[in-house]
Amino acid sequence: MNDVLAGGADWIHIDVMDGQFVPNITMGPVIVQSLRPQTSAHLDVHLMIVRPEQYIPDFLQAGADSISVHYESTPHVQRALDMIRSAGKMAGLALTPSTPLSAVDYVLKDLDYVLIMTVNPGFGGQRYIPAMADKVQALRMKLDAAGYPDIAIEVDGGINPDTAFEVTRAGADILVVGSAIFGKTDRLSAIQTIQQRAHDGLQARGAQTGLHTGI
Ligand code: ZN
Repeated sequence: MNDVLAGGADWIHIDVMDGQFVPNITMGPVIVQSLRPQTSAHLDVHLMIVRPEQYIPDFLQAGADSISVHYESTPHVQRALDMIRSAGKMAGLALTPSTPLSAVDYVLKDLDYVLIMTVNPGFGGQRYIPAMADKVQALRMKLDAAGYPDIAIEVDGGINPDTAFEVTRAGADILVVGSAIFGKTDRLSAIQTIQQRAHDGLQARGAQTGLHTGI
């Protein structure tokens, strides 16, 4: 982990899966709690669980810096976002590939970022869905037009040097890089290549915002 952080990644992205919202099961608040004293990196929690609002207090308590909840996972999206914001942490709304962008319409004031899934959630190492760059671009235009240019766009799934360029040019500010790094023997150079391509993409877009890369 420290080699990729040294390579410029500044967020640690923690996927939480419950075996219901997505088929896989992964770790809960205890992993966040155990990471917290080990790193000063931003801990970004992505809840792929049903009724996330029931568990948000546990993740806040454990030391999360940002938490995203899936639009598709609860009828109480606004309440969930408000719980995160009220604790002074960054609140994100996550959308699976087929969820339309209108999902963000009535919660813009409650949002710090929108997480666009570029693969179907649940398993690592999947292939990126090419239509997602268009979705990111449409979301960036929508946020800017609505007067919320500061809401960041996080992209999760299938990020490699090529897709890193494509999605940052389209409007992404935060990239989650998983198997593209961990599948490589030289992880330091893998993360550096992705960072470089992402900066190229930001420049092509003329973006003034900073880039975050999560592992
Ligand atoms: Zn994730």
